[in-house]
Amino acid sequence: MADNLDRLFSFVGNEEIRDKLAGSRERIGRSFDELFSGYARKAEDVLNEVVYVEDYPGVIRMESITFYTFCEHHFAPFFGTATVAYQPRHVITGIGKIVRLVRDVHARRLQIQELMTRDIAEDMMRVLKARGAYVETRARHLCICSRGPGDDNAMTVVDYGVGTLKDMTGVVAGAVPTPRSVLRSEVIEP
Ligand SMILES: [Zn+2]
Repeated sequence: MADNLDRLFSFVGNEEIRDKLAGSRERIGRSFDELFSGYARKAEDVLNEVVYVEDYPGVIRMESITFYTFCEHHFAPFFGTATVAYQPRHVITGIGKIVRLVRDVHARRLQIQELMTRDIAEDMMRVLKARGAYVETRARHLCICSRGPGDDNAMTVVDYGVGTLKDMTGVVAGAVPTPRSVLRSEVIEP
């Protein structure tokens, strides 16, 4: 790890910067252990405390779950909020577990927002054997704000519905007036 970071420091600066940043090697290593700890966890590990019910046709919806993750295209952070909804069948999970699914399992990996959104919904379906699941994420990507297109305001909104909540796809995001920046961010990153 230290050797690899030295190569990275040399790449962004020069030989001098290596000595200057010597103390950062360990810090970055520890930080990466935490930021990418999601690879060691799976949905089953966090959606593990459940309540069994006869039947539950209602929809449970958690909003404003904050997450921080890294774009796998540019190794740059992107962050925002997630809404997770599901319609159970016989299994209800603790609401704190849904937060952990987003933040500790999926956000703690290199990610593509579209795939992260889908994978959270599919995990809810698979692990809880839900009737339906719906996830919406809204995120700012530093690879778009701080470089490249350089747009500070572009907010990327992605949603994904499956099972009985499949028809919600596009409905929630579409119900809010769409800022121009959202339309711009639909351009596929190079
Ligand atoms: Zn990116």
